[in-house]
Amino acid sequence: MENIRNIYCVGRNYRLHAEELGNEVPTAPLLFTKPTHAAVPMNGNEIELPGGKGEVHFELELVLRVGQRLEPGMEPDDVIDGFTLGLDLTLRDVQSVLKAKGLPWLEAKGFKNSATLGEWLPYPGEEGLKAKDFELLRNGVRAQIGNSSDMLFSIGRLIRHIDEAYGLGPGDLIYTGTPAGVAALVDGDKLEALWGGETAASCTIKLMG
Ligand code: ZN
Repeated sequence: MENIRNIYCVGRNYRLHAEELGNEVPTAPLLFTKPTHAAVPMNGNEIELPGGKGEVHFELELVLRVGQRLEPGMEPDDVIDGFTLGLDLTLRDVQSVLKAKGLPWLEAKGFKNSATLGEWLPYPGEEGLKAKDFELLRNGVRAQIGNSSDMLFSIGRLIRHIDEAYGLGPGDLIYTGTPAGVAALVDGDKLEALWGGETAASCTIKLMG
């Protein structure tokens, strides 16, 4: 966690998820960031989240770790040195109010422990990632399943876009967006994230307050 620099997140990168929240499907990547203090391991531990601010939604996402800068002549895949599954946790009721008022999303997306991270896995490349589905089980029941082939903006496009617009370097993370199926967490929920059917991350949710 200590070497993390920028935490970039992509919103509405899967059509069915954009539609389930009643959002327009974007024509350019929608980016936001989280403070590094949002990052927390998801390795069988208990994760404390705010319990008195309305619904806290899970969003299971493929998370890329950047290991080097994108130099001229390099391919976007060359800068990624690992990936995992993580949760972009969201105070959905807070976000709805912020969106209606046109205010920034920080309060809804940037709270402590809102960026969970499973164990780092070797990155098989953008094409290689498409070979396996990722899946979230809540209390043993499938809540979300996705495949990176359904991304509206490909990993290569996201990397080039972020690099050009905001900069990208070692220690940066990219949460690449969630597929459909997001829902509110309940105190005591046991979450398990699967990569190709194998457990890559797990935790128990503790809603505080
Ligand atoms: Zn998300």
